[in-house]
Amino acid sequence: KVHVEKVNKSYGENHVLRDISLDIAENEVVVMIGPSGSGKSTFLRMLNQLETPDNGTIVVDGFDISEKATDINKVRENIGMVFQNFNLFNNYTVLENIMLAPVELGKLDKVAAEKKARELLKTVDLVDKADVSVNSLSGGQKQRIAIARALAMEPDVMLFDEPTSALDPEMVGDVLEVMKNLAESGMTMIIVTHEMGFAKQVADRVVFFEAGKIQESGVPEQVFNAPKNERLQEFLSKVM
Ligand code: ATP
Ligand code: MG
Repeated sequence: KVHVEKVNKSYGENHVLRDISLDIAENEVVVMIGPSGSGKSTFLRMLNQLETPDNGTIVVDGFDISEKATDINKVRENIGMVFQNFNLFNNYTVLENIMLAPVELGKLDKVAAEKKARELLKTVDLVDKADVSVNSLSGGQKQRIAIARALAMEPDVMLFDEPTSALDPEMVGDVLEVMKNLAESGMTMIIVTHEMGFAKQVADRVVFFEAGKIQESGVPEQVFNAPKNERLQEFLSKVM
């Protein structure tokens, strides 16, 4: 479903991604962990071409996005992304936020988009918020709306970049719960998070990034309980 081969990315002298190769299967949930500045966000952003790799191959859903001829907008329609800071349209209602992309991009007419949006509000447990302005929501509620908005496009892959890092602690659980349900529904997900408990519970595979490289990857039991890489051992001793 997602195929990444020997990708490199530099910002000036800063070699941020070094020969990254990674394959993600349909329905797989991959959690990426690693220290600040190790390249996790850059990697995610490359998957929907918010960043361009210097070289290497990235294929998403059969589309080679490293090829110039590929229509990146078509690819992006199939990739949902959720950021740390929600990126919602603050002056719009909850329902409008969720309906906007499918209507604007001609995927659904207004009636169908509203029906879909109301279903998604059930999924994220915020049915009663349909008509309020996004401004009036808590951080955890905003993030659940951001997830619903991404799902409205019926993406094949969902990317999450530290979706709970900006939230008050008591809001984190609700957002992780929605993500867990999404994982159980079979969504292909790539998640950057510092929530190690969630990673243990939900990830099929955990990938450790450090200094622009994948230093180790494996099932959660292996990565957390029997890490081989020294830098991973050190990282875990700090965060667990
Ligand atoms: P964090 O856990 O803090 O979010 P990260 O693993 O997501 O870190 P990235 O944001 O991918 O790390 O950044 C990797 C490196 O690339 C850092 O050294 C960062 O300063 C640099 N970098 C990221 N984006 C840019 C940019 N647009 N221009 C220049 N340098 C950048
Ligand atoms: Mg980051």
